[in-house]
Amino acid sequence: KKSDKYPALHITIIGGGYVGLVTGTCLAHLGHDVTIVDIDETKISAINSAVPPIYENGLSELLKNHIGKNLRASTEYTSVSEGDVIFIAVGTPPNPDGSANLSYIRSAAENIANQLVKQRTSYPVIVVKSTVPPGTTQNIVGPILASKLPKQSFDCCMNPEFLREGRAIDDFFHPDRIVLGTTDEQTLNIMKNVYSGLDAPVLTTGSTAAEMIKYTANAFLATKISFSNEIGNLCKQLDVDVYEVMKGVGLDHRISPHFLNAGAGFGGSCFPKDVSALAVLSEAAGVHPILLQAVLAVNEAQPLQMIRILERHFPDLKEKRIAVLGLAFKDNTDDIRESRSIPVIASLLDKNAVPVCYDPMAGENMKHVFPNVLYCNSAKEALKNADACLVMTEWPEFSQLNEEFDGMKFRVIIDGRHILTIPDAEGVCW
Ligand code: NAD
Repeated sequence: KKSDKYPALHITIIGGGYVGLVTGTCLAHLGHDVTIVDIDETKISAINSAVPPIYENGLSELLKNHIGKNLRASTEYTSVSEGDVIFIAVGTPPNPDGSANLSYIRSAAENIANQLVKQRTSYPVIVVKSTVPPGTTQNIVGPILASKLPKQSFDCCMNPEFLREGRAIDDFFHPDRIVLGTTDEQTLNIMKNVYSGLDAPVLTTGSTAAEMIKYTANAFLATKISFSNEIGNLCKQLDVDVYEVMKGVGLDHRISPHFLNAGAGFGGSCFPKDVSALAVLSEAAGVHPILLQAVLAVNEAQPLQMIRILERHFPDLKEKRIAVLGLAFKDNTDDIRESRSIPVIASLLDKNAVPVCYDPMAGENMKHVFPNVLYCNSAKEALKNADACLVMTEWPEFSQLNEEFDGMKFRVIIDGRHILTIPDAEGVCW
């Protein structure tokens, strides 16, 4: 690896999902020796066969270059013992009340401690990469490790992840910033070595501030979207083009043009769950989260605006064939977690309509949620004889659609992502 100043490190990543697999593979590409650990045997054997269990642009090639060389995957925690750095990148899904479920974090920390008790060859830095409520690294992960290990035999750091699915590899190599939540000099040097080779500002904070940075960033981005949707809903009533409005608004450098896209609302594994978790912990701290709750409420209502517009064309949706284009929560991923197409399909089914779905990558995943819905292999097939069409995901291929719409029975085309280039599509907010 690169230089004497920054030698290659032994790194173990606990959790081989979207974040763990991308981070592990990219760290291997930076020259480190990486082991990815996951409890899911199917995922591990896929990774070891150089087949990514998820779809992410560029991941397959990178994985092929490194697997079996300086990258491997395992269901065992043994590599933790040789690790200079151990990342925890397991899921933190929402509990029914919206708070973050930390059971995977706890279990990962316990497994790490048990392995280090058995055998330890180095002083490891344990890095929490998962998105966790403020205080988790200091008050939960640290104490679990400290309850089994001698003091001074490890150190904890919080290093939030900012990658966007669909652009995750590029985001890894060109981050806007790297946040290192630790005050320990030695840990900081090791973490700088982990990321040496990347050209990005490094912000050093306490671990709790690092945790809060991640939640706050996601909550702010979600707020921009819900704000744009509320303005968009108003613009639609006033017959004003919200995209023109937001273009003018975004030219103000204090606002920036990003994340002002009105449409069907935000989905994904992060924004909805992280805003909910922040709202729950805010309430628990005695600060009533008025704004965060409004952000969530706007987002819940937004996909159903598409149904409302559809019903203006077809007051009775019974047996109407509705092409649903896009199932992933955003383009360039197969991830359907909290996708806005889920409430839309559920509502169509509720109204006895016939959703006919197509997504370039996410069809298989959606079959687990809606096993009895029709799935097609192309947009053209989904559009054939459709009474109407709802565009739910900003897949670039949808912007090319044109004569495919000619196969529809009626030309009712509702674009939830402002992606279509045909002149007669109607927007949710425009
Ligand atoms: P994921 O569900 O895709 O992956 C989590 C993985 O952890 C799964 O493969 C699971 O089998 C594994 N796992 C669970 N418990 C384990 C254990 N005890 N030992 C080993 N493996 C275990 O989740 P993800 O999308 O990669 O997200 C991981 C974390 O990163 C979350 O906290 C999330 O909020 C955060 N994050 C995600 C994104 C994103 O875009 N997906 C971006 C930034 C931050």
